[in-house]
Amino acid sequence: MDCIFCKIASRDARAEILYEDDLVVAFEDINPQAPVHVLIIPKKHISNNLSLEETDKELIGHLFLVANRIAKEKGIADRGFRLVNNCNREAGQTVFHLHIHLLGGRQMFWPPG
Ligand code: AMP
Ligand code: ZN
Repeated sequence: MDCIFCKIASRDARAEILYEDDLVVAFEDINPQAPVHVLIIPKKHISNNLSLEETDKELIGHLFLVANRIAKEKGIADRGFRLVNNCNREAGQTVFHLHIHLLGGRQMFWPPG
């Protein structure tokens, strides 16, 4: 399978990695949409939110905790930040390996585009 995020997780493709453990990797988005734009992914290939299984519950909780950790490290936790998961075409999903966008460092607007 030719998945760019699997390659980043296995270090077969380059990325600015900020955090890694047994389950997840977090790295800088290559095309940032805010001063802070980090992607948090499971190491395991899951194509998107709809492919989650019961056994992934802990993994998903872990992704959110890692997002908190990075928001704090980046100094945006108190100001505020946004976590985004795009699922399938109309949401704008372009990479079919589950990821959470951590966005912050500027005022966010609602509704999103
Ligand atoms: P999505 O549209 O939710 O699927 O988001 C995919 C994100 O991955 C986009 O924000 C891209 O800029 C980002 N992206 C794609 N390829 C890479 C890469 N090689 N390294 C870092 N970020 C990437
Ligand atoms: Zn993958």
